[in-house]
Amino acid sequence: MPLISIIVPCFNEEEVLNIFRDEILLVTNEMAKQPDVSFEFLFIDDGSKDRTLKVLRDFNKLDGRFRYISFSRNFGKESAMYAGLKNAKGDYCVILDADLQHPPELIPKMYELVSGGEYDCAATRRISRKGEPRLLSFFSKSFYKIINKISQTEIIDGAQDFRFMNRQMVDAILSMSEYSRFSKGIFSWVGFDTKYIEVENRPRKAGKSTWNFWKLFSYSIDGIAGFSTAPLKFASFLGILTCIGALIAVLVMVIKFFVTGETSGGYYTLLCVTLGIGGLQLLCTGILGEYLAKTYLETKKRPIYLVKETDHETKV
Ligand code: UDP
Ligand code: MG
Repeated sequence: MPLISIIVPCFNEEEVLNIFRDEILLVTNEMAKQPDVSFEFLFIDDGSKDRTLKVLRDFNKLDGRFRYISFSRNFGKESAMYAGLKNAKGDYCVILDADLQHPPELIPKMYELVSGGEYDCAATRRISRKGEPRLLSFFSKSFYKIINKISQTEIIDGAQDFRFMNRQMVDAILSMSEYSRFSKGIFSWVGFDTKYIEVENRPRKAGKSTWNFWKLFSYSIDGIAGFSTAPLKFASFLGILTCIGALIAVLVMVIKFFVTGETSGGYYTLLCVTLGIGGLQLLCTGILGEYLAKTYLETKKRPIYLVKETDHETKV
């Protein structure tokens, strides 16, 4: 009988947890009427300052299927999702937010898509940014444009963390044990077949969002730094450009001397030397950057490949 693990990161969610529990039980009890599925609920209390932990303890007392892990402090949603996946026992795992912005009603459809074998993952993707401040939309869109230009991993605009995955994909995600986690990149990096279900943006049922502009900004920088080494190559690019500038300046000086017989002033020769040396320095920094990029990627110890299917036991 397949077990489905429902993973819920919670940070100061006392106000919404009871509503969440009612809604998720409505959906899962209905699904469990088919004789072949069972559920566990794994709540990750990410160092909440309110009564979240107390509520989770009560859930557990009432129903043993409700498990919880409480962090010693706030480690962030990425860490909570990792802890959830790492401790889930299910044949399938689904991650969703506590605030009901991710509609639990979609879980049966997601299960159908993934258990059918055609897909390894079903995820939601929001089609509009309605209800979001204009400026934030602008920055979000620019972020996706930039990261998809400079990173080989495709980061899908609007894809949410609401995901239903089979065990194979979960294990692949766990094999990426990097410390700085950017799930939007990791989900895509591991590959496998994902079906996107398009959804409208939904408001929070209760409580407050803890994300603000600066948190999102720093998260997007994490994403760029985690999935692209392009910024490290920037110095080489600038260096080559400056060297070309220096070369042109020298050529102009030489041609001018042969055509008109005039020598250039001291300031001009100095300019050529400064530009030339500056360019070389940038180029050398860029070369260092290349090696740093390689070392950086090695330290992440990402798997060299991930197998989806084979006719025999493979060695990884
Ligand atoms: N969350 C978390 N740790 C944090 C911040 C948020 O576990 O440091 C959880 C939060 O409880 C919620 C989900 O991540 O279940 C999404 O957070 P939120 O609703 O604040 O973000 P938004 O939906 O506004 O992007
Ligand atoms: Mg939310």
